[in-house]
Amino acid sequence: RKLVGKLSTGCTEFNEMMGGGIDTQAITELYGEFGSGKTQVAHQLAVNVQLPKEQGGLSGSVIIIDTENTFRPERIKQMVDGLSEIYGQEYDHEEFLKHIHVARAYNSNHQILLVDSAMELANELKDTDMPVKLFIVDSLTAHFRAEYIGRGTLADRQQKLNKHLHGLQKCGDLYNACVVVTNQVMSKPDAFFGDPTKPIGGHIVGHTATFRLYLRKSKGDKRIVKLVDSPNLPDGEAIISVTTPGLRD
Ligand code: ADP
Ligand code: MG
Repeated sequence: RKLVGKLSTGCTEFNEMMGGGIDTQAITELYGEFGSGKTQVAHQLAVNVQLPKEQGGLSGSVIIIDTENTFRPERIKQMVDGLSEIYGQEYDHEEFLKHIHVARAYNSNHQILLVDSAMELANELKDTDMPVKLFIVDSLTAHFRAEYIGRGTLADRQQKLNKHLHGLQKCGDLYNACVVVTNQVMSKPDAFFGDPTKPIGGHIVGHTATFRLYLRKSKGDKRIVKLVDSPNLPDGEAIISVTTPGLRD
């Protein structure tokens, strides 16, 4: 077993709540309503993972499985510029973008298949100077939610999701990488989708995801990140700011 690595979120309280940062060899689930900041956190981690250890990174590349077409290279550029403010040196956008490998998933089956491709790419990059150290699935559940509707198909959906998460956990273990997935929850009950105020995947995702983080909006650019049911850390809350140069205290 390899030593667990820690990926900095760039936020002091958030890192402290996580015992230093996002763990490698584990699945971290970000769940929350639309606009709560899940995709923003994912973008920031895709930048931070590329930094050297001294700057909270893992000197690695990232693979993003993008299911909602919400990946924005422009946003990465802003966050890379934001690093200059912190470290007082220039960073090259293109270098950062080069190490972010994005694949669009068109449906849930495609999404599952893309994990195999991700593993192949991680294998190719394994012995380079930028091995894959972060796998992101944003959103983990959107396609599943849309495709599996009604009671009859729920067991089927859970089984598929479970298998998918198992594949992702394997990526994390094999490459000593972080795995970050997002899961949208809705504020209002919606009869069409069952109980959408709870994250889909329910207890199945709950059992597989090692760290569950509930994001919610606060005043202005502030967001509250709540750690729920961690296996080895106390539950807690951290306040972060989502700003143009990136996540901040
Ligand atoms: P989710 O993925 O949870 O639905 P997002 O991560 O997309 O939500 O969060 C969107 C929010 O992030 C926006 O409402 C805005 O508050 C903030 N945001 C997005 N882009 C920027 C930016 N360039 N500068 C500052 N804040 C931003
Ligand atoms: Mg999003």
